[in-house]
Amino acid sequence: MTTPLNWPESLWTHSAPDEVENPPLTNHLTADVAVIGAGYTGLRAALALAEAGLSVIVLDAGDVGWGASGRTGGQVNPMMPFNSPQRIKELVGERIFETLAEQSLNSADEVFDLINTYQIDCQARQNGWLRVHHSKAAQKKATTDIANWNAVGANMRIVERDEVVAISGSRAYRTGTVNPRGGAVHPLMFVRGLASAGKARGVQIFGQSAVTGLAKAGAKWAATTQGGSVTSEWVVVATNGYSDGLVQGLASSVIPITPIQIATDPLPPDIIDEILPEGHTISDSRRVIMYARREPDNRMVYGGHGECDKQGNLSGFDWLVNDAERVFPQLRGVTWSHRWGGRIAVTEDHLPHLHEPQQGLIVGLGYNGRGVAMSNVMGRVMAERILGATPETLPFPVTKIAGIPLRNLKMIGMKHVIRWMKFLDYLETR
Ligand SMILES: Cc1cc2nc3c(=O)[nH]c(=O)nc-3n(C[C@H](O)[C@H](O)[C@H](O)COP(=O)(O)OP(=O)(O)OC[C@H]3O[C@@H](n4cnc5c(N)ncnc54)[C@H](O)[C@@H]3O)c2cc1C
Repeated sequence: MTTPLNWPESLWTHSAPDEVENPPLTNHLTADVAVIGAGYTGLRAALALAEAGLSVIVLDAGDVGWGASGRTGGQVNPMMPFNSPQRIKELVGERIFETLAEQSLNSADEVFDLINTYQIDCQARQNGWLRVHHSKAAQKKATTDIANWNAVGANMRIVERDEVVAISGSRAYRTGTVNPRGGAVHPLMFVRGLASAGKARGVQIFGQSAVTGLAKAGAKWAATTQGGSVTSEWVVVATNGYSDGLVQGLASSVIPITPIQIATDPLPPDIIDEILPEGHTISDSRRVIMYARREPDNRMVYGGHGECDKQGNLSGFDWLVNDAERVFPQLRGVTWSHRWGGRIAVTEDHLPHLHEPQQGLIVGLGYNGRGVAMSNVMGRVMAERILGATPETLPFPVTKIAGIPLRNLKMIGMKHVIRWMKFLDYLETR
């Protein structure tokens, strides 16, 4: 894991109740399953496995929620971004498409049900997700997409300009789409809640325990950290955008990118009452999207694309503040108290990937920035596989780990592509 551990603190660290850190691994343990990565994917898998009576040890280089799961925008929005249903069908085939589409459409409900089942205190609210369209072309494309998704069971509706203005508080958009199943959580409280539910069922969690070696030990696996090791029948790798050389080829199968976020101080009623008054989460249709939400303490959280240099310094915040104040002019002059970011994994086909490179080794990652709901589906599905489900019955195709062609070049070029896309967005939103 090469990411610096000194990234700026998120709003979520500030607003979640204090938590005792999980100790590092200091000896040699055995378990049925070792899970590498204590984000939503790993902890959801751990919880499902512990519920089934298996012994589970979770190892994280940082701690619970140190990765994207504790830094995310926390929008629990269903469906997978970027691909139309037709394209997904072409990519995964008819049979898998049906279950994948169903599970992705149900994914937000699944998260809210999970929160309810385990009574996770994480400010969960399912007030709907508003996606707003910035241009005539985006509006046209959205109309086709909605018809296609509604035909396979989504329940979305177009909202016209007046309603968009009323429920967003922004005059920057033409029309929008409401998906009533979307919502939001306090992301760090949610991931910690998953960890607590797992612990209550026997899951052991170790922080500051980067796995530096993963090798066969007879018929089992050994995951080694600086302080100890875990021997297990199965290993779940849930390292997403922080994947490195631990599993051969995995890092090259995704492109890591760095969304960033900013949050205001709590805002007075004359400002906040106008913005997202019905509590929707919001995102837009630009090539370089924005996403925002309103907090129970009347802060606004606004997110978009950022950059991270080789030293780990995050940038893009000034652009984001300007954009937030353009979309919501009510925010001009307010104090932006928190700025932070995290890392996500983008896949070449824009689908989540499930791999089983060797017997007993299973990997799930690649949610393309829409992972709060889908990572929970992936974690549950990986647990089902370990508990005996055959690969053919899973909602994700079990694929070989494949490197992204010209990945290095794409990563170098990404900065310029993003700038170009921002320019095109700018022309369309003037
Ligand atoms: C700023 C930001 C905003 C986002 N907003 C949204 C949103 O609003 N809605 C949405 O749906 N999605 C959003 N996402 C994406 C979503 O947060 C992620 O898809 C999701 O959290 C991925 O969860 P995960 O458990 O797979 O990975 P992560 O939470 O990233 O967890 C991976 C973990 O693996 C650990 N790790 C890595 N290597 C090792 C190793 N060798 N040994 C031990 N541990 C290791 C890391 O420390 C990390 O904790 C956002 C992401 C970011 C960064």
